[in-house]
Order: sequence, then C-alpha cells, then structure tokens
Amino acid sequence: MIEAIVFDWAGTTIDYGCLAPVSSFKKAFAHFGITIRDTLIRQDMGLDKQTHIQKLLHDPEIQAAWQEQEPAVPLNEAVSSIYSQFQIEIDQVLAETAQLKPGMMELIAFAADHNIKLATTTGYTQAMLDRILPEAARQGYHPAYNVTSEQTHQVGRPEPDMLQLAMSELGITDPSKVIKVGDSVSDILEGKNAGTISVGVTEGSSLIGLTEAQFTSLPIQDQDMRRMQATAILKEAGADAVLNNIADLIPMIESLNDHQQTTPLLLTPGPLTTSKTVKENMLADHGTWDDDYKELTEWVRHELVAIANASQKEYTAILMQGSGSFGVEATLGTAIPKQNATLLIAENGAYGERMVQMADYLNIAHVVLKVPETEPVTRELVATALEAHPEITHFAVVHCETTTGILNPIETILPELQKHNIVTIVDAMSSFGGVPIDLTTLQADYLITSSNKCIQGVPGFSIVLAKRATLETTQYQARSLSLDLYEQYRTFEDDNGKWRFTSPTHVMYAFAQALRELAVEGGITVRFRRYQTNEQRIREGMLDMGYKVVIEEAVQSPIITSFLYPTDDFDFHDFYEYLKDRGFIIHPGKVSRVNSFRIGNIGAITKTDIDRLLQVVADYTTEELHPARA
Ligand SMILES: *Cc1c(COP(=O)(O)O)cnc(C)c1O
Repeated sequence: MIEAIVFDWAGTTIDYGCLAPVSSFKKAFAHFGITIRDTLIRQDMGLDKQTHIQKLLHDPEIQAAWQEQEPAVPLNEAVSSIYSQFQIEIDQVLAETAQLKPGMMELIAFAADHNIKLATTTGYTQAMLDRILPEAARQGYHPAYNVTSEQTHQVGRPEPDMLQLAMSELGITDPSKVIKVGDSVSDILEGKNAGTISVGVTEGSSLIGLTEAQFTSLPIQDQDMRRMQATAILKEAGADAVLNNIADLIPMIESLNDHQQTTPLLLTPGPLTTSKTVKENMLADHGTWDDDYKELTEWVRHELVAIANASQKEYTAILMQGSGSFGVEATLGTAIPKQNATLLIAENGAYGERMVQMADYLNIAHVVLKVPETEPVTRELVATALEAHPEITHFAVVHCETTTGILNPIETILPELQKHNIVTIVDAMSSFGGVPIDLTTLQADYLITSSNKCIQGVPGFSIVLAKRATLETTQYQARSLSLDLYEQYRTFEDDNGKWRFTSPTHVMYAFAQALRELAVEGGITVRFRRYQTNEQRIREGMLDMGYKVVIEEAVQSPIITSFLYPTDDFDFHDFYEYLKDRGFIIHPGKVSRVNSFRIGNIGAITKTDIDRLLQVVADYTTEELHPARA
C-alpha cells in the first residue's frame, strides 16, 4: 500500500508553469545587466537556488556578460551577489504564486481518506517556504513535513537526502511505498536515487513553462504535443510514470494498491508489452460511423504510408479486421488471379509454411522454395527457382521469420523478381515499425504487418501496404467476401475512412496513440536502435551465461532471439514458470530440428527490464540448472 506522497512545490502543486523562480532568476540577472533565456533557466529547474545560479554561470555567454558588466567582481563572488538579488525578487512574488494547481484539492482529499501522508522537498530555502506555507494552508494544503537543503547540509536534488529525511520523519522505512512527484528532471532523479516510485506531472510544469491561460488557449494538438515532449523528457530521466494532471495520481494509487504484484512483461513477438498510455486509449467507446473515427482511420492510413517512406500517390494502407494472418490471407486470396497465375513461396520457417497452407486452402497454384530454418532466403536461391519455373507470376516471402528471428534480405531478393515483372508480397509482420523499410526503394507490391507488433499497439487488425497500381487490377479476384482486400480498399477510399463491416474501434484508438508514441520516440530508426541494443544485450548476456544461439549473428534480426536448450534434460516449462513468477513471459521455440526457446525484445521494454531479466535467468541457471556449481 502507498503510505506517502512527497511533492515538489513550484510547477508541481502550486505556481502553474513554475513562473516565480523563472521570473525571479531573470530579474536577478537583469539587475546586473544580464539577459538570460527562459529555456536555459528551465533546464536545471528543481535544483537548490544557489546551485542553480552556479550552473547558470557556467554558461560561457553569461560568464562573458558578467565580466563585461561587473569587471571588478570575480566570477566566484557573482553567485552570492546574484543570489542575494534573487531572494529580494522572489520574496515579492512567492505569496501570489502560491495558488494550488488544478487537481490538487481532489488529491488532498483522496490522501486524507486513504491515510496517505503528504510531505515536500524543495529547491527553495526555509525563508522562501515560509512565504508559501500560510498561503497553501489557507487553501487547505498542509503537508506534514517540509524539507529544504538547509536541513541536509546543503545537499539538494538530485541527491536523495532531502527525500530520505522526509521519509524518516514520516516513519517510513520502505521507499517502494512512497511516491515522489515533481515536474522537473531533478525531481525524477531524486525519486529514483531514493528508490521511491518516481512520478512526473506535465500540466503546469516547468517543462511546458506556460501559464494556465497560455496553455489552454493553444490548439488541442499543440497541447498534446507539448505534453508528449515533456513526458518524453521525464520518461528519459527514468520516471516510472508521467501524468498529465496531478489528480491522475488517484487512479494510479488505486491500481497500485489493487495489484500489489505487477503483471508480467511480455518478451514475445506480439502481442507485446504496450505502454500504459496506449492501453488507456481503450477506455472509451466509439461509433464506427462517427466522423472523428473516420478521420482517425484516415490519419492512421496516411501515417502508415508515410513511415514506410512511400508516396501517398503510389501506395495506400488497407486495414483488415483480425490478426496478422488475416492480412496475409486477404492479400494472397485477392492478389493472385484464379487463372494463369502461379505463386512462388519462399519458406524458411513457420510463417512461410503458413502461407503455403493458405495457398492450399485457397486453391492457389504454387511452388515452394524450401530453405533450411536456420539459413536465410537468398537472391541466388530465388533466381534458381525462377529459372526452373518460368510460370511464376507472384512471389511471397517473410521478412523477419519470427520462428528463429532470422532476417531475410528482401532488399536484394525483390529486384530479382521485379526484373521478371513478378508481383511481390512481403510478410513484414514482425519487422515493420522496428526495422527501417523504404518502400520507395523496395517497390514491394504488398507489405503486411499488424497492429500488435513493432508499432506497439494491441491485437485486433492487420495492415497491408499496397501499391495502388497493382491493387487496382484485383477487383472481383478475391476468394472470400470478408477478406476481399480490394473491396476493403474501395470502402476506405470511397467513404473517407469508413471501414467495411464492424471495426475494432478500441484497438484503433490505442493504435493511433502507438503511432504518436513512435513519432515521439524519434521514429523507426530510433526504435530500431533501441531494439538492436536490447537484442544485443540479451544475446550477449545469455552467451556469457553459457547459452547458445540458433542462428548466426549476421542474419539475426533485432526482434527476437532463439536459444538452444542448455542441457539435454532442460525443462522449458519449469524455466518458463520460474521467469513468469518473477515478471517475464518468454516464448517457446518453433524450430523443428532442435529444441530451443525464444526471447523477444520488441514492445515497451527498457534496458533496465533486460538487466532484470538477465539477473533472473542467472539465478535460475545457478540455482536450478547447476546447483552443484553454486
Ligand atoms: C506474428 C506473425 C504473423 C501473424 O500471426 P497472427 O497470429 O495471425 O497475428 C505472421 N507472420 C509473421 C512473420 C509473424 O511474426
């Protein structure tokens, strides 16, 4: 159970936009003829004010300005001069900026009801705090204990000392029962350093830096963008959660109290671990005829083409209800004419095999190019198959074969087919969004992915990126009504984003949020690097413990890695349960000739999660597998 919340002051609980310190710093420097930018001040917000001034004086431009304005006073004496002036300036504004931020009153009432103690730490001094406390009390906010760095030998944030003192004064010994809340990077670090749950707030924060009136007059999209930027900064600093309004702590505390143990992370190739905000987008119901919903659908379709680096004129995105396989089956069943057409399927794993099965079901004439599961499909192998089968008109291949985690080199394979005017179909289910794919260069006719893989949404629909010119030739060709890709496309196009038949509305809202979060992360190339780093970390960590990989590093994708069973009598089920009890779900192997298991790393997974996983695997390896060595 959560026992206490320790708050920061300005920008967090009072002083919307954290204006008092900023304006006072500006005035204090201006007193000495120095102009200073808001952004520079806000960078280090949350530190104790003398340290903050010292940091500002490290800026070369400000140093030069000081030397020009006050040649007689050496830099090391500047801090105390500016600080004295800062105290005068802030004293005049403190009381009037002590207005509680929106949501604070609800939170205070909730805390009182639930026996949660409130305390504060701050970059202000006791003298400054004395101006604020009566104002806060007048509005109903009386923290039980308030710490300044004067009580911790001038050790302020990001060190944990002030927070630890607050906890000990409140009689709390377990920091995991405490939530530290702030609006700046140094607040988040303070919480992390003390081992508490570290939570950021964005509305009215120093990072957004606007008054309430300025913020609410922004267009909604700009408000969202500002929030997301602030969120990204606080998350980057290690925040366990970033909330919009401070009252959002209420449901968060309720759910923390409800689920003492957190649900396990999915280290699987989809469905995967999604962010909390993606999940939260499913909390409202929506109508499928609604214009906003249709607009959202159009935005998602547009965005998907854009992140594939394709032109909207040349390519389109078709969404299809169902899991990823539904998209593959819709494509195969629609793209290939019933007469005078033969499909070549390259198969080096379970998903290639699934396409063969579909071709069987759908009565599609086909030839299979079978490649061992631990080896990639190559241009040479495809060229040889084409020579032997001049009747081939269509070609299908899996990009990342999730069976092993192998990455088939589609950039070199596809040109071989395009030479012969063969229509190309790529199952990029587990790679699109996580591995850069440039459709303008690749020129695949169809590329398929789904909502629950690297774009990090939840399961519910598949996505087909199709070359319009090829797709336009497929009317009346489908072998299924529901899985008619062409008709699905026509309905989206003719009715401004209307889905044919009922669509997974909640999944769409979650997916739109996932696309926004992909953009905030920095796009596919940045996500690709995160996946690569994390995959490498898992692989190297496992190799260090003596585990062996199934496929060569040169063809390894950054998505999922297969490991051989470490011993002949290895009990995968036991290993699986051990990891699950400790917060991780992994995947069984799918390679037919060898016993293996898989660890995926796509989804909202961080380096810290992986380090924790490796520690759990290490514990299992020494305790359960090799107890004699321990
Ligand atoms: C996940 C996946 C699929 C689709 O599987 P569903 O269970 O239908 O979502 C298809 N191909 C590959 C390569 C995959 O990784």
